[in-house]
Amino acid sequence: MYPLLGRCISRRSPCACVAVASPPDRRAVKDDSALAAAPAPGPTPAPAGRNGQLAKQGSLTIVRRSSGRARGRPPPGDEALDEVDMATDSLPPVDTPDACDKAALRLRCLLRQLEKGQVAAEVLQQNLMYATRVLEAVFIDETKDAGGCSAEADSPSASPHSRRAAAAGASAAASSSAAAPVQRRRLRTPVWARRLADDDDELSEVQPDAVPHEVREWLASTFTRQLATTRRSTDEKPKFRTVAHAIRAGIFVDRIYRRVNSSALMSFPPEVVKVLKTLDDWSFDIFGLSEAAQQQPVKFLGYDLINRYGIIHKFKVPPATLEAFLSRVEEGYCRYRNPYHNNLHAADVSHAVHYMLCQTGLMNWLTDLEIFATLVAALIHDFEHTGTTNNFHVMSGTDTALLYNDRAVLENHHVSAAFRLMRDDDCNILQSLTRDEFREFRALVIDTVLATDMSFHFQQLKTMRGLLSLAEPTVDKSKALSLVLHCCDIAHPAKRWELHQRWTALLLEEFFRQGDRERDLGLPFSPLCDRNNTLVAESQIGFIEFIVEPSLAVCSDMMETVLGPIMAGCKTDSAAGSIAEEGGPPVEHQTRRYTIKKPWSACLAENKRIWKEQAAKDAEARAQQQQQAEEATATTAEE
Ligand code: 5GP
Ligand code: MN
Repeated sequence: MYPLLGRCISRRSPCACVAVASPPDRRAVKDDSALAAAPAPGPTPAPAGRNGQLAKQGSLTIVRRSSGRARGRPPPGDEALDEVDMATDSLPPVDTPDACDKAALRLRCLLRQLEKGQVAAEVLQQNLMYATRVLEAVFIDETKDAGGCSAEADSPSASPHSRRAAAAGASAAASSSAAAPVQRRRLRTPVWARRLADDDDELSEVQPDAVPHEVREWLASTFTRQLATTRRSTDEKPKFRTVAHAIRAGIFVDRIYRRVNSSALMSFPPEVVKVLKTLDDWSFDIFGLSEAAQQQPVKFLGYDLINRYGIIHKFKVPPATLEAFLSRVEEGYCRYRNPYHNNLHAADVSHAVHYMLCQTGLMNWLTDLEIFATLVAALIHDFEHTGTTNNFHVMSGTDTALLYNDRAVLENHHVSAAFRLMRDDDCNILQSLTRDEFREFRALVIDTVLATDMSFHFQQLKTMRGLLSLAEPTVDKSKALSLVLHCCDIAHPAKRWELHQRWTALLLEEFFRQGDRERDLGLPFSPLCDRNNTLVAESQIGFIEFIVEPSLAVCSDMMETVLGPIMAGCKTDSAAGSIAEEGGPPVEHQTRRYTIKKPWSACLAENKRIWKEQAAKDAEARAQQQQQAEEATATTAEE
């Protein structure tokens, strides 16, 4: 792990130029064939990594998405294979963990049917097609030829299940220049490409005669481009070896393309990579990141997150476009030089969202597109914030208030301006989305960012509480993600004291500056904006008790509710959470509830305690001051 980073960023190291994310589990990758062809092995080994969590390998981090459902379930025996329904019309989407299990099972069934010589060509073709599409959605890295620099998996027993569910993103990787080492990323090669490129792959072993004509055609048209355009005469059948060679040639070209393409990926200074290693901590040092990133936390954190979840690859986001987009977002945040609502706050909220997605297991409930939208929503949620509140916009009658009719003025601006930015060709990170994907992405970003308007707070909580109190709650993704973003937006009082204290000082300075302007404009002070008459400690206690604590409580409840069914059967002490047995009825009737870890609880209690101490001291100081003032008045009166 750490030695790898040391090696990779060392200028003298021969492998200093490139390090890439390691495969989710190297051993499991070697065992891949066992998944499809071996007779039923024993139960899936328990994962050494954390289910649904980040697996740290080498210096790098890969986000894994998985569901606990199939964990520990042994593959079916031969007899059971005969009973599997091979219809392909109601299979799960190919990029879901469930799809991997289904595909593996189908492949086993096909092998058994082939052995018995009773497979229908159509069934074979349809199921192979599905399995291929599933494989294409799963990725491993391309580290073998990285000059000995490849990151070895540190958890050789990580479960094939979690590996199968691996998301596509490679995290930061290293390269160096002669003067200063920098980190460089590379995307990984899809599993199918790696396996087919291997000279000892199963294609080489398959006897040409054993492959039906339709399958050859299908292989050729699926894995090679040449045959899709050049039609063969009907009697000219593609020779299987030829197809295999064509596939390998295609992979070779793909690798070269990736290599050329990866050179355009953004470079990461080693200090940034170092700070990003602790990104999974709830109380991550965002100020430290900003310093390491030379005040560009949005650019580096945003890029890392989008890459980490495999979004660059999945949605074909050109790296240079992503970099340009993030730089422009960062600039927008710095436009008004706000003490609080700036790029650092955007990065802080994005980090908290990452924690919620990754460390609670929430990402397992979401599609890639929903993850993409959630990350972008967090990054842009206060874009071009003016450093003044909605109330100020309305009361002083700004153009923005006029434009949005006094409703969610800032929030409307943040999301509208961000989409306008994404319309620029050089910032259009959505260029490869289909029309439907774009509509879904846009709706989700609009909903979640508009819901950060604090005036929706109580209604939002009430609605979610009501929903969760139902016997069988169905939680809408948009509502759930809106609550997550809202909570992350107000989460600094739930982080460790040093961070919360800094954020409080910055926010109050921004409020006070608004107060100064209100005074100059002859407007009444907005709450907390009068720098001479604001009780900071008291107001913070109130903010924590009445806003932050209840929000996080409902949000946790919501996440546990939606994750329960996904994580069922996954008894774990993982970072994501655990299945706890609730007290009450006899054991056989007990309900098992999935509980997430809540590192914020301890921080909230501690911060409240400190503020209460501070409030007591402040009250004492005020009483003393008042007493002195009264004594001074009395003295003056006596004189
Ligand atoms: P944002 O403006 O960041 O989108 O929404 C969060 C809002 O929550 C802030 O504008 C501010 O009104 C409120 N907020 C965030 N942190 C604090 C805090 O520490 N104290 C108080 N009183 N309000 C806060
Ligand atoms: Mn915000």
